[in-house]
Amino acid sequence: MDLLLIGPPGVGKGTQAARLRQALGIPHLSTGDLLRRHVAEGTALGAAAGAHMRRGELVPDALVTEMTLEQILGPSCSAGVILDGFPRTPAQAEALDTALAGHARRLAVVLHLTAPDQTLLRRLTGRRTCAGCGDSYHPDTRTPRTHGQCDSCGQPLVQRADDTAETARTRLAVHTRQTQPLLARYRLAGVLHEIDGCGDPGDVTRRLLAVLALRAAGSSAL
Ligand SMILES: [Zn+2]
Repeated sequence: MDLLLIGPPGVGKGTQAARLRQALGIPHLSTGDLLRRHVAEGTALGAAAGAHMRRGELVPDALVTEMTLEQILGPSCSAGVILDGFPRTPAQAEALDTALAGHARRLAVVLHLTAPDQTLLRRLTGRRTCAGCGDSYHPDTRTPRTHGQCDSCGQPLVQRADDTAETARTRLAVHTRQTQPLLARYRLAGVLHEIDGCGDPGDVTRRLLAVLALRAAGSSAL
């Protein structure tokens, strides 16, 4: 089954993607990770993307689309994939639909994880990141054994520039503006499900799996 996970920064999308991957046994394809891997491995696509990144520019839509579709249609994702970070634009969504249809596949479910802005802001600004190994901590979910110090490597915990209140508000606004057209598209297609991303991560996973189970039951009954 091919599915897409959409959610604002701070909603816990990464955590839920990992849990879904475990539960469903299909890979989680994060476009950010894929991009970094191509750059690290020095593929032709990675070299082209890296040139944009070094100039501080966004990697062009078409390049991201080519890279991601190649992966989706490759052997590792033949049983389905959990998409995350792609598609981001209507043009990418169109390209994805066409590519999947060419292989008798389709985006069956779009899971939209939501939480009130207040909750997201608290989560985003409470995060502290290890200056050494990059591990992250949060008063709501994971506190270090020693205040201000990383459990894994002992380095100091710092607040990243990304996690200040002003940056967090901007990130949420950008996310809302970018996802609106995608959500409208998938709502119209009847594949969009809104999932409450608040509360215990285990409960959120159960909500996600309940939607998928319901959908599977529905399609086998047809
Ligand atoms: Zn550390």
